[in-house]
Amino acid sequence: MVNTTAVTIMGIDFVNETKEKFLTEYVYPKLTHNQKCFIVTANPEIVMKTRESNAFKKLVKQANYVVPDGVGIVYASKFKKQLIKERIPGYDLMRDLLAKADQESYSCYFLGAKEHVNEKVVEQIKQKYPNITIAGHHHGYISMDDNSIADKIASSHPDLIFVALGSPRQEEWITTHMDKFNKGLFMGVGGSFDVIAGEVKRAPDAWINLNLEWLYRLLKQPFRWKRILKVLEFMARIYFKKE
Ligand code: UDP
Repeated sequence: MVNTTAVTIMGIDFVNETKEKFLTEYVYPKLTHNQKCFIVTANPEIVMKTRESNAFKKLVKQANYVVPDGVGIVYASKFKKQLIKERIPGYDLMRDLLAKADQESYSCYFLGAKEHVNEKVVEQIKQKYPNITIAGHHHGYISMDDNSIADKIASSHPDLIFVALGSPRQEEWITTHMDKFNKGLFMGVGGSFDVIAGEVKRAPDAWINLNLEWLYRLLKQPFRWKRILKVLEFMARIYFKKE
């Protein structure tokens, strides 16, 4: 886990750095030195999942870095008087990593999402980041313990492996198969492939700046309303000190 001033929320240690510093001082050196690295981007819903499942908590604790995705995490840190410097949205982190990969001609693997979404993602990446080597790509509707896919991905020796299977599947996949790789930055990116492929629109900047990205998502995907209950429970637990 990051040895800077981590902030602990419900037993999860969060990176407490600006995105810029986190990338330049912690993540990029690992890429340069071919050191394996596992990043979890955690929002309140994921933290609640770790509270409800010890098995999932163990997976998240295997990450080198857990970054605060979701404004609820920042509010919780404020309430606990251990203020987190900056919210680091998983989507933004992914974009910065892609830009770095383009700059350094790294190779990337894209695992996850529906087949047509996965293909669109690769098309978009080729257009926007022409220097990235596409190590390969595969849709995300696979069995968790399908070793043949994992072995194939490992043998393509990617520098970065983006895994968009949703939580907890993406963290399960990464922790199950990471040992097969000799290097690689592994990151679970949730619904980011759907955004890159243009299937789901990200909130406009004004909403993001007002910390209302969650509301925009809820309005666009009302079937997610149950998730909001988990966020409310998270906030209530922080408020009443019942972590
Ligand atoms: N997904 C997948 N395999 C699965 C389940 C989901 O590839 O078995 C993909 C899904 O198509 C979507 C992404 O995982 O692109 C994220 O799903 P969701 O929005 O439910 O995840 P969350 O927001 O919980 O991270």
